[in-house]
Amino acid sequence: MRLGGRNALLSHAVKYSLQPRAVHLQSRTLQTLPQLPDLGLKLRDSPNPNAKNVAILGGGITGLAAAWNLQQRIPDVKITIYEKSPRLGGWVQSEKIPVENGHVLFEWGPRTLRPSMDSPGGIATVELIAQLGLADSLIAISKKSPAALNRYVYYPDHLVLLPGPGRGVLDLLLRLLKLRTEPIFDGVVQGLAVEPYVALRDPTVQDESVGDFLRRRFGKSLTDNLASAFFHGIYAGDLYKLSAHALLPSMWFLEGRDRENEPGILLQMIPFMFQRRSNVRGDSLRFHSLYAQDSIGRANRQGNMRALVSKLEQASVYTFKDGLREITTSLGERLSNNANVSIRTSSPVADVIFDKTESQVSVHSDGKSDSFDYVVSTLGPGMTKQFLTSSASRRKTTLTPDVSQACDHTNASVNVMVVNLYYREPDLLPQSTRGFGYLIPRSVPTEQNPERALGVIFGSETSGLPDTVVWGEGDLQLEGQDTAPGTKLTVMLGGHWWEGWAPSDLPSEEEAIEMSKNLLRRHLGIVQAPEVAKAHMNPNCIPQYPVGYRDDMATIHHALQSEYEGRFKVAGPWWQSGVGMSNSIQKALEVSWAIQHQWDDQTGLEDYAEDETWYIFDKRTGLLVNDPES
Ligand SMILES: Cc1cc2nc3c(=O)[nH]c(=O)nc-3n(C[C@H](O)[C@H](O)[C@H](O)COP(=O)(O)OP(=O)(O)OC[C@H]3O[C@@H](n4cnc5c(N)ncnc54)[C@H](O)[C@@H]3O)c2cc1C
Repeated sequence: MRLGGRNALLSHAVKYSLQPRAVHLQSRTLQTLPQLPDLGLKLRDSPNPNAKNVAILGGGITGLAAAWNLQQRIPDVKITIYEKSPRLGGWVQSEKIPVENGHVLFEWGPRTLRPSMDSPGGIATVELIAQLGLADSLIAISKKSPAALNRYVYYPDHLVLLPGPGRGVLDLLLRLLKLRTEPIFDGVVQGLAVEPYVALRDPTVQDESVGDFLRRRFGKSLTDNLASAFFHGIYAGDLYKLSAHALLPSMWFLEGRDRENEPGILLQMIPFMFQRRSNVRGDSLRFHSLYAQDSIGRANRQGNMRALVSKLEQASVYTFKDGLREITTSLGERLSNNANVSIRTSSPVADVIFDKTESQVSVHSDGKSDSFDYVVSTLGPGMTKQFLTSSASRRKTTLTPDVSQACDHTNASVNVMVVNLYYREPDLLPQSTRGFGYLIPRSVPTEQNPERALGVIFGSETSGLPDTVVWGEGDLQLEGQDTAPGTKLTVMLGGHWWEGWAPSDLPSEEEAIEMSKNLLRRHLGIVQAPEVAKAHMNPNCIPQYPVGYRDDMATIHHALQSEYEGRFKVAGPWWQSGVGMSNSIQKALEVSWAIQHQWDDQTGLEDYAEDETWYIFDKRTGLLVNDPES
């Protein structure tokens, strides 16, 4: 094992930057980092002289956060945001609904964020919230709240409470004992027990589906009854189509890591679960290292950072009084107040073409074209293929079949129908079933889920009920999202279940409301009529990450690099093998660093083009315990 030189320096950096209180510890990290670890990146003292004029494609959270970071880091840069729809925010949509005794807040897209203060996404998001001065309206849902402690899976015809962090070891044991008699548990213990003896994958295999991977290692029960429920909750996806290498990167790495000495994955994971070791991929390490040296964001923080961090350390998830739109609304307002930023709503981008002689990228929208030094695109592989095709045809060539296929293959997404219901009764659900909500695995019999639901969220539990929130020092009164008493529920329908369905076969929004009421009657015994019931179809809202995703991304990286010479960069869920809003905010920060420091060899996809490097650290000593180069 080589622990000297570069790795010793990295372990030194990470020892501090991975502490859970990372946001507090930045100054300490800076002091303890003698120099940037050799990650092959050169930091500029002054901003990139070529970045005078930047276009951002898409005015969702990724595009807005990218614009925000850029205008902070390159003070004179002119930024143009192109947004297809008349409003900013993309999938972030929070709506206040007046009801008899006040109002309730419905979320149509993302509803909560995870603090995870030692992950790049968590840190980037908290930093952004601090810069926008949104701490006062933050609602932090306590780690001790029902939503944090109780998560359910519906199987085969009732709610099953899952073991989780719970209320300590005794509670965990009691839950496990109860689960012993549950059909959902059949075969799970056997699957876990034999995992260390299961043959490791053929080293030539580059990827397989999440379902195949988990089934091979842990058995069918755990995969179909438990894991599929989580993949419904996060990706609304079919785990037999999603990429294990992209979505379970740590497990994928552990399986292939030390073929001679390590028996399987489970035993290797135990020290990670008990916080003894941390497993960090090279790209995360790079983020921590760069973030530690980026003082610009910190200089722009507003409010009491210590209070914000302290609240979030006690939180399992968080949101805001007016919903997650507070982030996008605040970004939109601040950016529109900056004379250097032009926001063009109702302006769909039709094409993006690079002029290699002038090093200018022209963006075509509304029949006009404007030239830019750089473009940050949050649009998906379908539009990207079109841009690459047009740029190639300008040079009188055509897009190569492998690039075309990579774009087509990864241009996969699912439709999700979101149904929000508000009932006047505050105790609609019995106390014994308070929790975050429940997910429905693929193995539930069709007669129990003819609606093709993915899960149900008990929305009131994460909207700021007084007994669920973290109270900060000096908080006398905390306002939640809803001023009217009652119960909010959200039913998510469709996702991969609707793949291949003709649009005419999909339910209308009225039908979806009726389907949701039927489901809630059958699953939870709710017979009361909701005071408000609304549904939104979100078409193609969650990108899917098919088997081979990483290779496709590498192919697209090389194509973008050769076509645009680093002047066209991508960010957002299509490109980051993860759908979370925090990951999008992180990627928006990283893309602005790439422009600020003139890293023209980066497209936002460069990590896929290299072998992954993993660093395993002993959390107590901060020392590296593996050889990342092997
Ligand atoms: C139902 C649902 C629930 C979710 N729940 C959560 C959650 O609880 N927590 C969480 O962290 N994440 C959640 N997510 C994921 C999160 O919402 C996304 O990761 C995030 O909103 C992505 O932001 P974005 O800006 O990259 O993309 P988008 O929000 O899709 O924004 C892209 C923008 O580009 C615009 N656009 C498209 N084409 C063009 C064009 N040709 N020209 C110009 N503009 C164009 C679109 O109109 C849109 O405004 C959820 C997503 C959905 C759909």
